[in-house]
Amino acid sequence: MREIALYIHVPFCIQKCRYCDFVSYPYLQPESISDYFKVLTQELQIRTENDKLQNVVLKSIYFGGGTPSLVSPEILNDFLLLLRQNFRFSESIEITVEANPGTLNSEKIREFAHLGVNRLSIGIQSFQNRFLSFLGRAYREKEVHNLLTELIDTGLFLNWSFDLMYGLPFQTFSDWKKEMEHLLMYQPPHFSLYNLTLSHQVPLRIFLKKHFALFPGQDWEASIYRWTQQILRKYGYRRYEISNFAKPGYECLHNLTYWRNQEYLGLGVSSSSYLGGIRMRNASTLSHYQKRIKNCQSPVVTKDILNLKQKLAEEMILALRTSEGVETEKLFKTYPESLVQEKLIQLEDFAQSHFIHEREGRWILTSRGTLIANQLFLEILD
Ligand code: SF4
Repeated sequence: MREIALYIHVPFCIQKCRYCDFVSYPYLQPESISDYFKVLTQELQIRTENDKLQNVVLKSIYFGGGTPSLVSPEILNDFLLLLRQNFRFSESIEITVEANPGTLNSEKIREFAHLGVNRLSIGIQSFQNRFLSFLGRAYREKEVHNLLTELIDTGLFLNWSFDLMYGLPFQTFSDWKKEMEHLLMYQPPHFSLYNLTLSHQVPLRIFLKKHFALFPGQDWEASIYRWTQQILRKYGYRRYEISNFAKPGYECLHNLTYWRNQEYLGLGVSSSSYLGGIRMRNASTLSHYQKRIKNCQSPVVTKDILNLKQKLAEEMILALRTSEGVETEKLFKTYPESLVQEKLIQLEDFAQSHFIHEREGRWILTSRGTLIANQLFLEILD
C-alpha cells in the first residue's frame, strides 16, 4: 500500500516576527481561519483527484505554519474527519500541530489530544525576554513557562518538541548556557536548534547590515554547537539531523519522510509536494492561492520533473542531513552505476578532507562537515 505524509500550511500568526520569511499573515479575525479551511477542503478534493491519491495511507499529518495552534478544536476536528473520509490512516500515524506560546492553554491541549493530535511542536526560540522582543515574537518568557508547565501537567502528550534559536545579536556564551539550562529543566523528547538566518526581505536584515559586528558570527556558532552536542549526549539525546535532536524513539516521523526523499502531499498556500518523482509548489500568496481554488483550478503553479541525476543529488543531500547518512548499496540499486560512481568520487574527496566518513557502507557527515554542510550540498548539486 502506498504510504505518504501530509503537510497542511496554516498561514496565520498573532503578528509577524521581524526575521520571518515564511508565508504568514497577521491574524485579524477568526473568520479568516474558517474561510481558509473551507478553501483547504476544496483543495483536498482537487488534489486527491488530480494526483490520484484515492488509495493512499497517511503515515503522518503535520499542521505547520504560521501558527496552527490558533485553529479552533472544532475546525481541526472537522478537517481531521474529512481526512479520515478521504484516506486511510496508518495505525502508528503521527499527527503534529505546531504551536506558539500564548495561543494554547491546558483546555486546548486536552481538546487537541482528544481529537487524535499526538505530537506538539512549540516555537519557543528563546527563554529570554530581550531576545524574544528583538525577534518580534508575540509572547514573553512567562508565557513560555506557562505553556510548558501546562503541557507537562496534563500528561497527555508524550511526544512533543520545541525550537530554540542561536546566533542572535549580543548573545553570549552565558546567554546560551541559560537557554540550555531551561531546555534540560524541561527535557523535551525532541527539539530543534537553528541559527538565525535573515533573508533579504525581512525587517531584521536592515539591522544586520548596519550592526553586523553585534552578531556573534560563525566561529562562535560553531563552538557553541560543538559544546551543546557534548552536553546533550550526556542527557541521552541523539542528533539525528543537522538541526534536530531526540531521545530514542522520538524522531519526527513526518520530517524523516522529507529527509528519506519519500512522497508527501502539501496542502495550503505555498506548500510543496513530492509525488511520483515530481516536485510541486502551490501558489505563494494567499490571494493567488484562494483565487485558483475558487476557480476550481489546482493551486499547483510549478512542477519539476527531476531527471535521474537531479534525483540522485537530492537524495544524497537529504540523506547527508541525517545521522543515517547515504547508503551506497541503496544508490546502486536505484540509480545507473555510472551516475553513482561519479558521485562516490565526490564523497571520497569530502572524506579525504574529513568532512564525511564511511561506516558500514554509509557516508555520514562529521562534526566538521556539519558546520559547512550547505557548501558541500552545493557541490553535490553541481
Ligand atoms: S510565528 Fe513563525 S510563522 Fe509566524 S511570523 Fe513568527 S516566525 Fe513567522
